[in-house]
Amino acid sequence: MSDTWNKATKMVHGGTRRSQYNEVSEAIFLTQGFVYETAEQAEARFIELGPDEFIYARYGNPTVAMFEDRIAALEGAEDAFATASGMAAVNGALCALLKAGDHVVSARALFGSCLYILENILAEFGVEITLVDGIDLDQWRAAMRPDTKAVFFESMSNPTLEVIDIAAVAEIAHSVGATVVVDNVFSTPVFSSAIAQGADVVIYSATKHIDGQGRALGGVVLGTKDFIRGTLEPYMKHTGGSLSPFNAWVLLKGLETITLRVNAQAESALKIATALQGHAALARTIYPGLPGHAQHALVQRQLGGKGGTVLSVDLKQGKEAAFKFLNALTIAVISNNLGDAKSIATHPATTTHQRLPEAQKEDLGITPGLVRFSVGLEDADDLIADLLQALEVAQK
Ligand SMILES: *Cc1c(COP(=O)(O)O)cnc(C)c1O
Repeated sequence: MSDTWNKATKMVHGGTRRSQYNEVSEAIFLTQGFVYETAEQAEARFIELGPDEFIYARYGNPTVAMFEDRIAALEGAEDAFATASGMAAVNGALCALLKAGDHVVSARALFGSCLYILENILAEFGVEITLVDGIDLDQWRAAMRPDTKAVFFESMSNPTLEVIDIAAVAEIAHSVGATVVVDNVFSTPVFSSAIAQGADVVIYSATKHIDGQGRALGGVVLGTKDFIRGTLEPYMKHTGGSLSPFNAWVLLKGLETITLRVNAQAESALKIATALQGHAALARTIYPGLPGHAQHALVQRQLGGKGGTVLSVDLKQGKEAAFKFLNALTIAVISNNLGDAKSIATHPATTTHQRLPEAQKEDLGITPGLVRFSVGLEDADDLIADLLQALEVAQK
């Protein structure tokens, strides 16, 4: 692979390793182990692994390595470690980095399972957590302490699509020597330049846009070679959150089409958001790519003006209208994944964020009328027509 290639080319060829058969499509190495020619070779590999040497699939596997190298090329990261799910990636990155007595500052608007790792697991092991409003830089500054070891945030929050300024938070965090860990799912690896903007560790749930076709769970942690191999890999390989070779192959093939898919989805999302904004049934249409989004300038700077593949609408008449709207959709399915080829509509207040106390939902803008819409690969005009007819039904 050439470093001068653009992203789309790297996503088709990056990381490829061919077997003795010179196959065109990447092979699935469904093997947990590897045979050594001699006892001496086994001994040598357990002392130190050379390039393209493997000893056990929990530590590494050729298909998994192809996926890791390809996604590292997309993100512009030195290295990557693939994990069994997005949550294995979040848990691995934080647990490998932190120990009892450390302090972490995190944005409050988090995926429920990320919040569980911070508030339940890490807190119980003696890590101190301070939660801040991620878009308020003064709160980040005020929360930082000499013993702050890491900051954590979702660069685009779910489901209200607030964008956190990676460069600004990184500058604040680095002033006390804290490591910047970013869950970058909603920004997508296609539009991300998180590492160039100051993130030290970037995490994706590969279940979302990287697969993009709703088939496999997976995740990945990206960072420096030093962090990935020195800090993260020992934790992951001994605790068992590694990615299966079969899922790695599915995700590897997903990367071949990710730039096409995500660009098309973002283009449709902008069309749809533009068509829906100002509709009489809606109190808000939230899409980071809309010129009217509260952080439009930051979206330009951080994501090249791309607003991602998800939008949210808030129905004025609350939960009942939101349910009527969901039930009237004929193309999008009601589910809770995102980044899929199929458009997916979600009612966060009663599903993904159901367990949050009412006050917290209100605080995060998760109103009873809020519907999250993950834009798929269907024709944008078909989706717009379907959404508009469903809004008519919801108003009745
Ligand atoms: C889905 C998601 C995760 C978890 O990923 P899994 O692959 O489901 O484990 C973490 N963070 C964000 C922002 C997500 O959307």
